[in-house]
Amino acid sequence: VKEVKCEHCGFWTNGLQTHCNYCAQMLHSRDFSEREQLEKVELKGLPFVKINPEDPFITRGFKHCVRFLQLIFTTLISMIAAMASSTVH
Ligand SMILES: [Zn+2]
Repeated sequence: VKEVKCEHCGFWTNGLQTHCNYCAQMLHSRDFSEREQLEKVELKGLPFVKINPEDPFITRGFKHCVRFLQLIFTTLISMIAAMASSTVH
């Protein structure tokens, strides 16, 4: 049986269970919250602009700029999320 250390009371308990045997707090709650945050980031992240090769030169240039800004924006959001999760825990 795989045992995990409860992050609430510090006792080792059955890792296959969702709740601690000793304090009845939810196990793996950290994993859940991190996954939720990642999902939120993915939802916030805008879909990248599609660049059509038939677009005129100016439109393609503009779309390249938009895509670059989106990349920076997405990176910033994920960095903020990572910083927030490391401060909380
Ligand atoms: Zn516990």
